[in-house]
Amino acid sequence: MSCFALAVNEENASFGRVVTAPTNGAAGVIPAVLHYFVAFCDGDNEEKILQFMLTAAEAGSIFKKGATISAAMGGCQAEIGVSSAMAAAGLTEALGGSQRQALMAAEIAMEHHLGLTCDPIGGLVQIPCIERNTMGAIKAITASQLALQSTPDFAKVSLDTVIKTMWDTARDMSFKYKETSEGGLAMHIPISLPEC
Ligand code: SF4
Repeated sequence: MSCFALAVNEENASFGRVVTAPTNGAAGVIPAVLHYFVAFCDGDNEEKILQFMLTAAEAGSIFKKGATISAAMGGCQAEIGVSSAMAAAGLTEALGGSQRQALMAAEIAMEHHLGLTCDPIGGLVQIPCIERNTMGAIKAITASQLALQSTPDFAKVSLDTVIKTMWDTARDMSFKYKETSEGGLAMHIPISLPEC
């Protein structure tokens, strides 16, 4: 499943065509989780694939209305975090979860991306972005499985609360961690080193 995410983001890094979901840098998470569903769960069910995509899109819309899907405004929690939440909601719907479990899955996925900074080395959407998509996809599947095994009535954190927290965190975050490459990894890994 990580390979699916890597493939999409290598395509993006090599100037190929991808679908923003919700952005180019995070474009691998939703396709990876959807392909996981197709390859390992119920790939012949077109209606469920459609439900996955519609649910993921709606989850992304809720984040856009309540916070942001822009790394320049909120750091990577707004990109990988939101894409992971979108994928978690979509997968939960496709696997037969209730609407509230889908929202719970989105909440769980975002809860564990809160505060994630954006510090791409050299301003290129490669490091940490490409691998970060694999992590977003893994968290989406875990969040979905947790939600599917849970009762939303007992959840301590709602999706609304985590979106508000994400937005508060975004506003508190230094500009250095908002796609400027003036902090974090971008300051510690020179672009000319072999690691890049
Ligand atoms: S580190 Fe920045 S550019 Fe890279 S995926 Fe995250 S938000 Fe996008």
